[in-house]
Amino acid sequence: ALPITVANVTKTYGRVHALDNVSLHVKSGEFLTLLGPSGSGKSTLLMVLAGFTRPDSGSLKFGDHEVIRTPPHLRDVGMTFQSYALFPHMTVAGNVGYPLRLRKVPRTEIADRVDRALQTVQLDGFGDRRIDQLSGGQRQRVAVARAIVFEPRILLMDEPLSALDKKLRDQMQIELRRLHEKLGMTTVYVTHDQREALTMSDRIAVVNHGRIMQLATPLDLYEHP
Ligand code: ADP
Ligand code: ADP
Repeated sequence: ALPITVANVTKTYGRVHALDNVSLHVKSGEFLTLLGPSGSGKSTLLMVLAGFTRPDSGSLKFGDHEVIRTPPHLRDVGMTFQSYALFPHMTVAGNVGYPLRLRKVPRTEIADRVDRALQTVQLDGFGDRRIDQLSGGQRQRVAVARAIVFEPRILLMDEPLSALDKKLRDQMQIELRRLHEKLGMTTVYVTHDQREALTMSDRIAVVNHGRIMQLATPLDLYEHP
């Protein structure tokens, strides 16, 4: 896996300080959750890590490498989005293979890797299905498969479970945590659900008004909220 070092990152939209001088170190192989209310800056920070948002200032390192100017598809990062952002007109295999086509991986290797990713999220045999034939939980799994298919060393997830009902959410929390342990990626996970953060994380960064207010283990946060 790969550690992440965010140093003095600032991003403003007009007068809104989406990120206000944020510094954060995520350890190699750690599961770190950004926890905070809507509008606190969690998604913006994740988009900076993924490379979709360029901050106004600050530095971002993956390991020893400064990546602030590295475009998303050249970063060692897989990401899932809140609304899954799947391509509805493509099959499951088409969606999951997309990051590999983007990286010009040979066709035969793509098929193998897509099968493996679908196995990992327990969707074996779903490659030919259309996205609109899938349940919410299955779509979420496809989004995860697409994020891990090129075996990134960093996985970013933006409220991946918010569209699911409670029972499925509880089940997926356990599955995603297991997946993290199995693949050993450095994981940054965004949620506004405190219970979810306490259940899944090695550490929790409490975000508010574009700042990290607290950084602690679930146990410490639980005892000193
Ligand atoms: P969240 O549910 O995490 O708060 P939002 O629904 O606020 O996310 O934002 C969804 C998308 O819209 C994101 O890509 C975000 O960058 C963008 N966005 C959020 N707020 C604004 C805004 N005030 N003006 C323009 N775009 C915004
Ligand atoms: P969160 O993910 O915690 O809900 P966001 O990172 O989406 O918060 O947003 C943080 C703040 O930045 C909010 O006030 C939001 O409206 C604003 N914001 C985010 N993206 C944009 C954007 N593309 N344009 C304008 N304002 C934005």
